[in-house]
Amino acid sequence: MKNTVFIPLFLIAIMKNVMAQQQVHQFARNKVVAHRGAWKLNNLPENSIASLQEAVKLGCTGSEFDVHITSDDSLVVNHDAEYAGMPIGISTYSQLAAVKLPNGETISTLQQYLAAGLKQGITKLVLEIKPSKVSGERALLSAEKSVALVKAMNADAWMIYISFDYEVLKKIHQLHPQAETQYLNGDKAPELLKADGISGADYHYSVFQKHPEWIDEAKKLGLVLNAWTVNDAPTMAWLLDKNFDAITTNEPELLLQLVKKHVK
Ligand code: MG
Repeated sequence: MKNTVFIPLFLIAIMKNVMAQQQVHQFARNKVVAHRGAWKLNNLPENSIASLQEAVKLGCTGSEFDVHITSDDSLVVNHDAEYAGMPIGISTYSQLAAVKLPNGETISTLQQYLAAGLKQGITKLVLEIKPSKVSGERALLSAEKSVALVKAMNADAWMIYISFDYEVLKKIHQLHPQAETQYLNGDKAPELLKADGISGADYHYSVFQKHPEWIDEAKKLGLVLNAWTVNDAPTMAWLLDKNFDAITTNEPELLLQLVKKHVK
């Protein structure tokens, strides 16, 4: 008699555990990557935690953001290589943090940004490692420190790494061969990416229009296809027709509507 009670409770515990794990990894599958977060409609600062939270609220599959390294080796989230007139690469974190974003946030460290992103399991975190104006070595250090932080925070499941700097992506692949990586610069054929262990091509959409053969080649090689930065409905529709895995946009609300209506 004891077993009849014990076994169901035991199974329920396992099922709860499995469901909890699945919930964490049930990222949205709508192809919409919000570029620098979802900032435009609500006039939020690009790359702010508020813009990340808005992308999550919309249910985007991903939210992109940019990372630079400061002179004292902090990783900070900002698009431009300058923040409030200060070149990030030769400024300390405390100098940058003294100037608030327009919505009152302090410029985020990568640790703070990831901590905000890990509170949810809908939207993946698309981390762009920016090339360094100081040196190629500084960009590689950004990559090393980012991968180490992601590991320490147990954030691998959320992460996609992107960069215009090919050496950065190769470094990430070397440090963490399972990491999802996408190259941005548009100057390499899919087979070259595959040979170097890069898992996707995230190119300006005009590159794919110029090289439509790369779309099928990438698919055959099992590479992920993403395109930036797509803000108009006709180009979004073209990429949806080509069955891209992701589309990066400043207009996530518009793309979400198109994805819903799209029938291939
Ligand atoms: Mg970017």
